[in-house]
Amino acid sequence: MVFGGKPCSPYTHLLDKRMIMSHTRQAAHKLMLIEAEIERFGSSRVPKLRFEQSLEDVFRKDYSERRARWQFWLGVAALICFNGFLLGDWFIIRDHFATAVAIRLGVVTPMAIALLYVVRANLSRWSRELAVCGLGFIGCVSTLYLAFSDGHTFALQAEPTVFIILVLLSGLFRVEFRYCVIATLGCLLANTVYLMSLMDVPYVDRLSTALPVMAAAFFMLVANWISWRQLRTSYLLQLRGEQQSALLTQSNLELRQISERDELTGVGSRYAYERVYKGYFEDAIEAFSPISVVMVDVDHFKMVNDEHGHAYGDRVLQRVGSLIQQALRAEKDFAARYGGEEFIVLLPDTDMDAAEKVADRIRTLVQVAGSPGLGRDAGIPQRFTTVSCGVATMLPDQPEEPGDVVNAADRALYRAKALGRNRVCRAEDIVPA
Ligand code: GH3
Ligand code: MG
Ligand code: MG
Repeated sequence: MVFGGKPCSPYTHLLDKRMIMSHTRQAAHKLMLIEAEIERFGSSRVPKLRFEQSLEDVFRKDYSERRARWQFWLGVAALICFNGFLLGDWFIIRDHFATAVAIRLGVVTPMAIALLYVVRANLSRWSRELAVCGLGFIGCVSTLYLAFSDGHTFALQAEPTVFIILVLLSGLFRVEFRYCVIATLGCLLANTVYLMSLMDVPYVDRLSTALPVMAAAFFMLVANWISWRQLRTSYLLQLRGEQQSALLTQSNLELRQISERDELTGVGSRYAYERVYKGYFEDAIEAFSPISVVMVDVDHFKMVNDEHGHAYGDRVLQRVGSLIQQALRAEKDFAARYGGEEFIVLLPDTDMDAAEKVADRIRTLVQVAGSPGLGRDAGIPQRFTTVSCGVATMLPDQPEEPGDVVNAADRALYRAKALGRNRVCRAEDIVPA
């Protein structure tokens, strides 16, 4: 963060104010969207299983990779299981075992591997979901074909496998609802064609087999829809929690920034000074290094206000704040408004001589450039702005309390005032009365 014109190290961890504001606005906007979606999912009995576009994109991004991985490994397991059914084929359709081997290993397996590759590649949502549907569909058709090729022996025994495939698609693969509908209808159609082709099986047997499969397909689709609704709702709730805490963090940053900066002059606030001084003081004790404090007070400021008004007085304070910043050189030097027309400068790792130089630089800069111009019709001649400074230093071998150093700088300041203003006084020069 930059106060005046110079970077101030105690604030570098804070972001630029405008950036924070825009982050907060974005977070608040996103939170509003999430709230609206939560309300829609909660109030509508049959909500559309899709979020507003920007949320939908985030949702898919969050889930896509995990889903692809899950569907891929489940697909691998399903394929192994499918080929494991060769064992059953050996006992049930021994006459057609060669056909079963050819279909399962020669046709379905290469196709399934290609589809699994598409699932794992996860190029797009639709390609991934359709590939999973394809897996289910070829599993279903190949099972029905094997049953059909065996005629009587196998007859209706393919139905449990069709049922398992529907359960897998809706429940475990949890294919997105609309794709799941397509895959389920495809499997049901294939099953119907298969049952119709079993001329030798009594009509009633075929119907009593088909109906439970259809009912199961319907209930599995309902379950699929409900689980998607629940998944999306819990995603929204989780997102809301994350967004709320992000918003809180942003607001805290904003509040902190506001409280750390003096609005009028741009230097640090009194609050910031308290915090920074505490840290610097502890560091000085720990590092056994000196720390200096300079108190800066605008001379006869009341008269400036009285003669040219408070608005002009404010402009003077702004200039003084900016000039103090410009007078600082070291990265950790820190200036704050102590109150009214009084500023405080903290100079870590700085001895009295160096601090006096900084104070005199401030004094000179203000004398030269501290007076904003007046209008031509100002009437009263311009009073040139000057400041008086008091400097105090804590030496490492003479540790003091933080407040004592500031009080010493304050006493030196009053000494400077008493000696005629526009000057710098060192605390050590004050002779005890
Ligand atoms: P000295 O040289 O002894 O410091 O005299 P002074 O007039 O500067 O000091 P005094 O304490 O008598 O007056 C300080 C004045 O500063 C009084 C107050 O109205 C004014 N002041 C304090 N804060 C502000 C401010 O934010 N804006 C303006 N325009 N004036 C302020
Ligand atoms: Mg004053
Ligand atoms: Mg004062």
